[in-house]
Amino acid sequence: MYCKECGTKINENSKFCDKCGVETSVKFSKGRIYIPIISLILSIIGILVVFSFGEDNEINDRDTIETIAGCFWIYSVLPFSLGIVSINNNYTGKNMGIAALIISFFTGIGYIVLLVESFDSYLT
Ligand SMILES: [Zn+2]
Repeated sequence: MYCKECGTKINENSKFCDKCGVETSVKFSKGRIYIPIISLILSIIGILVVFSFGEDNEINDRDTIETIAGCFWIYSVLPFSLGIVSINNNYTGKNMGIAALIISFFTGIGYIVLLVESFDSYLT
């Protein structure tokens, strides 16, 4: 971006212009750092949960399938959405949001595979 005062090219995340010291219009939502943190923590729990379900050779009871479906929303869809929110709003610590986005994408696939497999054995 460029300084609105002197037109010097400045870093996207700079709070002040290096040349004239004018404050940039970058919004710093420091109070919102908890959103990328929460998304990262949830996505990491999500990996552990996927692997713990994966260790059971055959899941074919309705309760467990419903639990997996619930975990899919809480540990994959939720951190994925919060990751997008962090990036869109340029929150402090949005790199954690990016990491959460990547992790929860893959765990999401893991959950879907688990659900398909366990639903298969539930029906047979
Ligand atoms: Zn300037």
